[in-house]
Amino acid sequence: MHKDIATPIRTQEILKKYGFSFKKSLGQNFLIDPNILRNIVGHADLTKDSAAIEVGPGIGALTEHLAREAGKVMSFEIDQRLLPVLEDTLSPYDNVKIVHSDVLKADVKGLIDSELAGFKDIMVVANLPYYVTTPILMKLLTENLPLRGFVVMMQKEVADRISAKPGTKAYGSLSIAVQYYCTAEVAMIVPKTVFMPQPNVDSAVLKLIRHEEPPVTVIDEEFFFSVTRAAFAQRRKTLLNNLQSQLPNGKAKKEDILRALKQAGVEPSRRGETLSIAEFGALADALHPYFN
Ligand code: SAM
Repeated sequence: MHKDIATPIRTQEILKKYGFSFKKSLGQNFLIDPNILRNIVGHADLTKDSAAIEVGPGIGALTEHLAREAGKVMSFEIDQRLLPVLEDTLSPYDNVKIVHSDVLKADVKGLIDSELAGFKDIMVVANLPYYVTTPILMKLLTENLPLRGFVVMMQKEVADRISAKPGTKAYGSLSIAVQYYCTAEVAMIVPKTVFMPQPNVDSAVLKLIRHEEPPVTVIDEEFFFSVTRAAFAQRRKTLLNNLQSQLPNGKAKKEDILRALKQAGVEPSRRGETLSIAEFGALADALHPYFN
């Protein structure tokens, strides 16, 4: 086994060798604790028959742990300065493909087909750049990729919102947007001290496992998501008020909204945060004929 990249001393050595300076704008907070990395990778339940997709390898701290456990790793890095570093630090591993690209612009589906052909079990495992956590997750969730799930580090506050249950303060349209596709749980809370440089916020590892079937079947997914966003537009307002002010021509359609709420069995005076995904599904389907 090779010496870990992610010790404080080796990380310093690598940064010095390449004269690397962190770019805050790219969310560069590198992990410097091999135990944390082992724990993160453990939550992904990888075998040599699995492939891992990573976003943002940095200097390869997590990548090498993935390379040891998985059959193949495909990792997207936006920062060109890190390419020669990765070529050096990951040279002991022949099962890593670094893709120099902004993951948000990459053809992930096409790359899975070409680079990970034959792998039936694919997990996204990453210490995500915090400034784009949600867009990255939503892209990977909605592009219909053949993924089993995600084990991803992010700001703790975002992990709490994504995994929140109805009736809690953190529950909102982001919880529903993700839980429509996956079960969501916070797997680990991670202290600031295991990063270089240390971030200003607390971090958590979120584990998402894709549902075989969505928890609710709706007529129109896009409309369903727009109803959930409308319901949380102003958290102190009732569902009726939010739907009236957010849906197109909602004010004039008050009677239609009331009819739909009744049909879905949802009291107009309730607040969005009390509705389950199933209730939102029923409501969106009841509203659909009036707004489409
Ligand atoms: N995996 C490394 C670790 O844990 O030490 C680095 C994680 S660091 C939080 C995030 C990494 O994502 C950085 O290497 C950064 O350059 C990269 N990154 C930022 N935005 C990106 C994007 N849009 N696409 C791909 N990589 C990105």
